[in-house]
Amino acid sequence: MILPGQTIGVLGGGPIGRMLAQAAQTLGYRVHLFDPDGPCPAGATANREINSPYDDLPALREFARQADVITCAFENIPADPLNAIAPIAPLLPRVEVLHVCQNRQREKAWLRANGFPQVRYAEALDGDIASMIGQVGRPCVVKTADYDHDGRGQMKITSDADLEHAAAIFRGRRCIMERWVDFSCEVSVIVARSRAGEIRAFPLAENIHTRQVLDFSIVPARVSAGITREAVQMTIAMAEKLGIVGLLAAEMFVMPAGDVLVNELAPRPHNSGHWTLNGCETSQFEQHLRAVCGLPLGSVSVRKPTVMVNILGDAWFARREGQGAVGARREPHWFAILGEPSAKLHLYGAGEPRAGRRMGHFTVSAADIETAMGRAKELQELL
Ligand code: AMP
Repeated sequence: MILPGQTIGVLGGGPIGRMLAQAAQTLGYRVHLFDPDGPCPAGATANREINSPYDDLPALREFARQADVITCAFENIPADPLNAIAPIAPLLPRVEVLHVCQNRQREKAWLRANGFPQVRYAEALDGDIASMIGQVGRPCVVKTADYDHDGRGQMKITSDADLEHAAAIFRGRRCIMERWVDFSCEVSVIVARSRAGEIRAFPLAENIHTRQVLDFSIVPARVSAGITREAVQMTIAMAEKLGIVGLLAAEMFVMPAGDVLVNELAPRPHNSGHWTLNGCETSQFEQHLRAVCGLPLGSVSVRKPTVMVNILGDAWFARREGQGAVGARREPHWFAILGEPSAKLHLYGAGEPRAGRRMGHFTVSAADIETAMGRAKELQELL
């Protein structure tokens, strides 16, 4: 057991690293943060910030020697550095879990081998789009195997022109091609699994993406009890199969016939769990720390129906015309959120606002989810 007063090493200093560090500080832990780019959003909330590339093994080993446990706010760290620190301090989740979740080919192969349902897909080591399309059909989407989030490194193929374009872009690259599906909605489940194997699932979130980036998370999700049960049970089964210690977030598509398909996994706190900071008895960040430190898991009861809205760098620009931020930079209308008693504002100190960059989020809680959603949309407009 790692007790308050001891040191938690966190890899990754973006918004998730920052909120993880804040939760650790609240529990009385010391936080050492490692991120290649500094100063990073999490640095201001850590006891120590180390900025060096992930392949600087001497710096990583020194970081590991000072930590009682190490965890990740960002999973896309190459295997060599992870293998270098794992023998020095416990790394949770384990390298094997990170290895599966940091590459779409490995993750999909793992889902297939373990019988978890997913979208029809094909894979290629060399971006041979022509041979893949025969297996998947159109419309489809090509994604690089090594993770790029939020629709980056992805291209939807509908026409012959798209096909030619994708063939040129992805030639020679490891990628997967997925059938493009007309889902009825997207949902996610975040489960925590402790060192002792205790599991708790946060309530299902319904997620609305705009231009492939998360826009709203809505809890409770507006889906049937049967779909909720299936999504939660599937995520628990995946967490057990992976033997993960910490959080596992599973993003899923709910299909019109009611079946649930796994889209992707993240072995860490997830953007679709930020609502827990205000809407749940225990935040996902605290729960992750409880799990990796060997503490008992916290209550996952919902305090009130809650909607989370992402604040992207686009909000700093007066005109948003489909393609992102344009026009003169201005300060978002924070007073709209601050003046609403049911809303809470979270900003990440993320530096220069840029189109698509996650700068913060806000939550709105209300007696029912329709009221919370209505207010959240109004505030997003006013921002
Ligand atoms: P990803 O980075 O793979 O999670 O994709 C980001 C978002 O793009 C998803 O949350 C969906 O909204 C959309 N998307 C990705 N893959 C597909 C697909 N095969 N069919 C339909 N929509 C998709």
